[in-house]
Amino acid sequence: MGNVVDDLIARVFDDVRSLDAGEVADYIPELAAVAPDSFGICLATIDGYVYEIGDSRHPFTIQSISKPFTYALALADRGAEAVDAKIDVEPSGEPFNEISLDPLTERPRNPMINAGAITAASLVTGADQATRFERIRAAYSRYAGRELPFNEAVYESEARTGHRNRAIGHMLRSFDVISGDPNDAVDLYFRQCSIDVTCRDLSLMAATMANNGVNPLTRERALTAVGVEQVLSVMSTCGMYDGAGKWLVEVGLPAKSGVGGGVMAVLPGQIGIAVYSPRLDAHGNSVRGVAAAKALSKELELHFLHVT
Ligand code: GLU
Repeated sequence: MGNVVDDLIARVFDDVRSLDAGEVADYIPELAAVAPDSFGICLATIDGYVYEIGDSRHPFTIQSISKPFTYALALADRGAEAVDAKIDVEPSGEPFNEISLDPLTERPRNPMINAGAITAASLVTGADQATRFERIRAAYSRYAGRELPFNEAVYESEARTGHRNRAIGHMLRSFDVISGDPNDAVDLYFRQCSIDVTCRDLSLMAATMANNGVNPLTRERALTAVGVEQVLSVMSTCGMYDGAGKWLVEVGLPAKSGVGGGVMAVLPGQIGIAVYSPRLDAHGNSVRGVAAAKALSKELELHFLHVT
């Protein structure tokens, strides 16, 4: 199997690397400064083998790919009922940073848009802000199987320019979705987005979800099985911004992307896939990430509705 997968990812890598459409995120200078043509693909199995090619160990900020992991931590800390009372699980079809709540429920529509993600951060427990953030970073690190570093420069820029997210935080407070200081929840969200990962890390984080919450390398449990199901469900319908429907048709795997250029996808019980390439399409998804995942899904017949 080894050589077959190595050959396949090499072939997909060669086919997809010629794509140079899309733009690197440039809302903060640190993100605009990345090498636009960096490209890596990793596939991690639930028995802990990682196939990798290209810039698979190049660090970049996790950005929105953090959202499912903090949601998972909030679920573990508070229980599903308490979290569901604050964050819905319905696809919104709106851009990720929309300043809106569902008019009927007065809740964020899901944890993958910023309103839901900031709410999830507010639900993480801990005596103070520093403890809460350390719990988040430690949790992400358990999925990756190594201590993940914090990128101070990206955080400072996010915090300096994040007026829209602050507006969302205050809106959430005014509707009593968030009960504490909204600035704390937004700050935690900026910090979680500023954790550095590599493509290899992301594939292992996805493989941990695929392995029902247990890291395939360290054998450490990162998430309960019940949590995995809820998080993967939401990733299936809401993980790829307003391109989630097309992704489900074309790739057919629960996934999450971020504006740092990462994408991760999960085939439950089998593998985690990650692609890193910072040029983004109009939805904010990595152009090569989507193309590579589509090719891998087709070649390996990964679509979760595929019947052989
Ligand atoms: N820090 C970013 C924001 O909320 C995350 C963007 C993303 O990856 O979608 O603006």
